[in-house]
Amino acid sequence: MKKTIYFLFVLFLAQQASAQDINKIITREYVDRLIKTLSSDEMEGRATFSPGIDKAASFIEQEFKTIGLQPLEGQTGFRQSFEKDGKPLFNVAGMIPGKSKAREIVIFSGHYDHLGIIKAEGQDSIANGADDDASGTTAMIALAKYYKALNNNERTLIFVAFTAEEIGGFGAKYFSQKLNPDDVVAMFNIEMIGKESKFGKNAAFITGYERSDFGKILQKNLEGSEFTFHPDPYPEQKLFYRSDNATLAALGVPAHTISTDQIDTDKLYHTVKDEYSSLDPENILATIKGIAQSAISIVKGIDTPTRIPKLKK
Ligand SMILES: [Zn+2]
Repeated sequence: MKKTIYFLFVLFLAQQASAQDINKIITREYVDRLIKTLSSDEMEGRATFSPGIDKAASFIEQEFKTIGLQPLEGQTGFRQSFEKDGKPLFNVAGMIPGKSKAREIVIFSGHYDHLGIIKAEGQDSIANGADDDASGTTAMIALAKYYKALNNNERTLIFVAFTAEEIGGFGAKYFSQKLNPDDVVAMFNIEMIGKESKFGKNAAFITGYERSDFGKILQKNLEGSEFTFHPDPYPEQKLFYRSDNATLAALGVPAHTISTDQIDTDKLYHTVKDEYSSLDPENILATIKGIAQSAISIVKGIDTPTRIPKLKK
């Protein structure tokens, strides 16, 4: 009997240690495989309504299944399908139910669509969208893997790859109609984390930083670590309104986008040259781990960001 208890205790300690070792859960190999696959020529630039985006959706579904996510309530699979002008669209969404605060939702998102085939530069006409936004989609999947392994989320975590961001944010709009925005405690939208930010290594920025205390909570959770978050340094670009966080933010949700892109000088943005080879994989890896650690008190239900004032109708 004693032996059994001792054995269980050791097993428990081992599980705790392994569950908390982020470096073993989010590895360079794992992140590389995700982003290389999503930005491969086989996905043909993931244009909305194209066969390429269908392949990308199937890949994300398979990853969600391997991680052990559950479909959203009322869904049988991970595809959240809808129509736009009679044509089929689909987000890919999965969840980890919360342990004690299941009605409180935290969202992690990235858009998996991109521009598809565009005007050729030399022999290349595929807009691979490695940074925009295979990098953010990769982060979203890696965070799902991490929190599933951690297994201590008191709140319900939803992981979603949005479609049709590039043509008007229709994926995020449909998604936001399928839940009650008042139930959403925070949204981490991740967009273009493939290259070093203007703040250097181990740093990212948060759009709409001053609109809630979401950013302050993230910064607090990173105290003592090497990663830092900063307010968006490009307010004139209005990035807060240019990604999928904007829909839920307008409904009062502390919904922010995290990015490292130097948007004012990024010559690869929306060109065929936004490819894996142009990215800094260590920047992606560090940013994902930074987000994972910065979100922990929100995931566990300890911190609740202030609401963003609703847009007046
Ligand atoms: Zn984008």
